[in-house]
Amino acid sequence: MRIGQGYDAHRFIPGRRLVLGGVEIPHDQGLLAHSDGDVLIHAICDALLGAAGLGDIGGHFPDSDARYRDVDSRVLLRGIRDQLAALNLVPVNLDSTIVAQRPKLAPYIATMRLRLGADLRMHADRVNVKATTTEGMGFAGRAEGIAAYAVVLLEG
Ligand code: MG
Repeated sequence: MRIGQGYDAHRFIPGRRLVLGGVEIPHDQGLLAHSDGDVLIHAICDALLGAAGLGDIGGHFPDSDARYRDVDSRVLLRGIRDQLAALNLVPVNLDSTIVAQRPKLAPYIATMRLRLGADLRMHADRVNVKATTTEGMGFAGRAEGIAAYAVVLLEG
């Protein structure tokens, strides 16, 4: 068994789609990033890479590489899944927390779990996604951006 954790944060900007956990969420702003800005998937990617001892997402998919401009983060997640599979490392379960003052994420959590489970070839009941505000404190609380944490367990 190998455990890994990941963290990511991105800043809100107007004029972009908001995508979290592979789900597009109606909002008046999106997250600034080279990719689609899916901060939850980025945290999950870092947790997977961390558990495998393979560094971090920036090392595998650099911002300087035009191939990853506005890329669907699910593509990155599936790429990492395949890299781990090649090392006989299989995700057992995943837990995560999105830290966002707004928008309200509860209506989208079930779909996130299904999509992340599909990408990681895990049943959705092994893919937990939680969301919390910070009661107005800090950058997330001021709605300057969104942060996400993830932990994963790999077997291999
Ligand atoms: Mg990121």
